[in-house]
Amino acid sequence: MSDVPADLPPRPAPGADPAPGPDMLAAAKGRMKALAATYAADLPGLDTHSLMHGLNGVQLSFLPMGDRDGAFDPEHSVILINSRVRPERQRFTLAHEISHALLLGDDDLLSDLHDAFEGDRLEQVIETLCNVGAAALLMPDDLIAGMLARFGPTGRALGELARRADVSASTALYALAEHTEAPVLYAVCALTRPETDDPDDSPPPPGGKVLTVRVSGGAPGVKYSLRPGTPVPDDHPVAVALDTRLPIVQDSYVPFRSGRRMPAQVDAFPDRQRVLVSFLLPGRAAEPAAPRGEA
Ligand SMILES: [Zn+2]
Repeated sequence: MSDVPADLPPRPAPGADPAPGPDMLAAAKGRMKALAATYAADLPGLDTHSLMHGLNGVQLSFLPMGDRDGAFDPEHSVILINSRVRPERQRFTLAHEISHALLLGDDDLLSDLHDAFEGDRLEQVIETLCNVGAAALLMPDDLIAGMLARFGPTGRALGELARRADVSASTALYALAEHTEAPVLYAVCALTRPETDDPDDSPPPPGGKVLTVRVSGGAPGVKYSLRPGTPVPDDHPVAVALDTRLPIVQDSYVPFRSGRRMPAQVDAFPDRQRVLVSFLLPGRAAEPAAPRGEA
């Protein structure tokens, strides 16, 4: 990409890690994915009961846990899940805690991690790895490849992946983006209360809510993303898709918060109270000439 990113916040993706040890971390993520994939391959299914199938003797217990999502207690061989959070989050947490168990079972990986990191950083890396493991467990490569083959890198593919894997749209977004080869930026947009320090300052829009970006992330090599909270203009295809409840594919633009409008093919897929979006960005050198951004 020769474009100079004009609206480039740090990517908030889980797993975006600063130095030290980026190579080590990348290797560890690959190892964690492989552990999860191997584990998943032997499961009878991916429902809650089936997910536990590969952990001999480990009990599963649901109980209120305050602000914790869950825990794995290796001493007592039990995975605890907070029963008070929504089911799709419980499911991701279960996959995360299973990943803790898988990690604890891999002495080589554990000792590499302890050599490379320490203290809070070690804890942070382990949590990142267990999120990577959870995503790999719930969204196997062939499931993602199947969605991309069937629907292309689109908002619809994002919606279908979230539904089929029974994960949140943001969890599905990061996994789908990672597997996407085209220069695509994905986003989940939803109605939110307007961001203002003083709600009395200006009258709220009808309904009191505005359409904003909740989460966004691009395919590898895409250097742009939309900041959470970025408003979507009323006449943008994403807003029209929400209003009409109809999917829209249209040449339009990425509504950067700076006001810059980068041309993109927009695929907006309405899904309940939100819209799942892909922005296909102006082409790479290898592709037929497409209009380039103004950057
Ligand atoms: Zn954890």
